[in-house]
Amino acid sequence: MNVKTRFPPSPTGFLHIGSLRTALYNYFFAKKHGGTFLVRIEDTDRERYVEGAVESLIRTLDRMKIDYDEGPIFVNGMLNEKGNNGPYVQSQRLDIYKKFAHQLVYSGNAYYCFCSKDRLEKLRAQQQEIKQTTKYDRQCLSLTKDEIQKLLASGEQNVIRMKIPEGKTTFHDEIRGDVTIDNQEIDDQVLLKADGFPTYHLAVVVDDHLMGVTHIIRGEEWISSVPKHIMLYKWFGFPLPIFAHLPLILNPDKSKLSKRQGDVAVEDYLAKGFLVEVLVNFVSLLGFNPTADREIYTREELIGSFDLKKINKSGAVFDVNKLLWMNGQYIKMLSEEELVARVKPFLKREVSNDILRRICTVEKTRMNLLLDITSIVELYLSQPAYEKEILIWKKSNKEDAIEQLKNIYQFIKSIDENIFNDIQLIEQALTLYIKDNDLQNGNVLWPLRAALSGLERSPSPFELIWVLKKQEVMNRIEHALKILS
Ligand code: GLU
Repeated sequence: MNVKTRFPPSPTGFLHIGSLRTALYNYFFAKKHGGTFLVRIEDTDRERYVEGAVESLIRTLDRMKIDYDEGPIFVNGMLNEKGNNGPYVQSQRLDIYKKFAHQLVYSGNAYYCFCSKDRLEKLRAQQQEIKQTTKYDRQCLSLTKDEIQKLLASGEQNVIRMKIPEGKTTFHDEIRGDVTIDNQEIDDQVLLKADGFPTYHLAVVVDDHLMGVTHIIRGEEWISSVPKHIMLYKWFGFPLPIFAHLPLILNPDKSKLSKRQGDVAVEDYLAKGFLVEVLVNFVSLLGFNPTADREIYTREELIGSFDLKKINKSGAVFDVNKLLWMNGQYIKMLSEEELVARVKPFLKREVSNDILRRICTVEKTRMNLLLDITSIVELYLSQPAYEKEILIWKKSNKEDAIEQLKNIYQFIKSIDENIFNDIQLIEQALTLYIKDNDLQNGNVLWPLRAALSGLERSPSPFELIWVLKKQEVMNRIEHALKILS
């Protein structure tokens, strides 16, 4: 079978973490089977349409390196597309849906409805009051052909509704197994709205068929729509695709992942300096785990091991702390050059390549986010502010701190510039100095490190000296002495 998957976002905002997972799984599945992956914009709900959302969705997919074979693309800021099954934006396919909706009216599977919004609202309220399922009461189904013709001719506002038959609908889901729903629970779904736009249900079925989609992998929230879709497939004579509905992504309190409990937009995570490969790795594991013996996987490994059969049935908790941990792990694995390139876009001020490289070398293990670089560089580029207490080692006192800093100042002043280009040489020189003068590490290294960083915890004094270089090291010791006296 020639596999074809799809990712059809609605342009209602940013790419959501859950949608990222859906996009990735469709992408993995297609890649794994040597198939095709398409992106389609489902913009038929004009009330929920957000200006700029299409561009942002496409840009985020691009930043996440999720490439697709067919779909909308931006060329020089203009919406364009690739592939032979377009248009890939539903608002550009209205004639197609209209034709299919009318076909169902002719075959008796759908009917015109002229009910006003007002009437439908009242009906709904009545049903709610007596605790009935809210459903259209089929008033317009009793209209005669003549009445319908007259209403249409007079330009009366109308929609086209599905005529849900009696009985039960069963379908197979790759993750859930067989699912049966009593048709009684299904409303006579509007297929074509008064504004000439289709609803999601008509458009999705028509497009998935016309675009040759073989596998529909999407969020669980759509599973209750499948029976309607199955009916449409049957009425149109389309072969059924394979369905797989993914479990929910949950907040730590097990509620559905929502903005109220943290960021849900992929862009927000990118802006904070989460790496693309971390988001791919982490989000992919919210639903399946290739081998269950580790948590770090490359994209290739994820593609190679992706299997619908391995997807969990129960919801997966989105744990931001774990994501942060994973980001730190990945940052540690980056080469210095790579880290320099990645942090550069996050800098808020000019930093020379040499200094940035040194900073990245000594700070790599302490960084969890690329964005951390903005505060980290400040430490090196400007004299940090701190309280004098921090300069005093817990087993010593102020007088000793002053004496040690005075002496180390002279020592640093005396050593050759070249030594400052090598962390190991710096360490050797200082270790020797401590030994030769019969001193304790803590008495010397604590006030020195604190004078250079102004922090309780920081890279070692040797690393700090290497980054700051001779003159700045001396300046900072002088500053510390001023504070102490
Ligand atoms: N446009 C729908 C959405 O935004 C797509 C649902 C589907 O994959 O069928 O989620």
